Amino acid sequence: MRSVVHIHDLSFAPFISETTIQTRIQELASQLDADYIGKDPLFLAVLNGAFMFAADLFKHLKCQPELSFVKVSSYVGTKSSGRVDELIGLQTSLKNRHVIVIEDILDTGVTMDKIFTLLESEQPASLSICSMLLKPNSYKGKHQPKYIGFEIEDQFVVGYGLDYKEHGRELPAVYQLIK
Ligand code: 5GP
Ligand code: MG
Repeated sequence: MRSVVHIHDLSFAPFISETTIQTRIQELASQLDADYIGKDPLFLAVLNGAFMFAADLFKHLKCQPELSFVKVSSYVGTKSSGRVDELIGLQTSLKNRHVIVIEDILDTGVTMDKIFTLLESEQPASLSICSMLLKPNSYKGKHQPKYIGFEIEDQFVVGYGLDYKEHGRELPAVYQLIK
């Protein structure tokens, strides 16, 4: 694992190693396989951050998973006031499907609440959350995530898909901000 990395104006120290992440991913995959085998599960990975986690997780899944990538976008509605959220990239019908949302990190839970609301309207048979990281002290989401890689303190991390101003996603391990 590389030592300190510098991204833009900030420095980050090694936090969760590549080996630790990969071992945990195998455990998560076993858990998901046990829960979803025979259910034709559909995994929705949220771009951009979850791309690496989804790719590594998928190498181990044996439950014949389907994968789609989605993105949440917010825009100001033309006539209505305020922001409108929409999910881009959804091409498969979710009706009566067992859906698992793959995220990189859950912080306050605001993003996941939005995603959940948008997906629930599609009437899936079940909807659950799989996130590589969770900040339990700041998470106020309405839905408890069932599959979590690691619980971490409230601190800013990068790597393994997560960025700081669009850089650092390529790092195979997770790094924490040096204060
Ligand atoms: P939430 O809506 O749960 O507060 O925030 C979720 C989003 O905030 C994540 O999808 C991610 O884009 C960003 N985020 C939250 N915490 C971190 C962090 O520690 N590092 C990075 N790089 N992004 C974070
Ligand atoms: Mg994200």
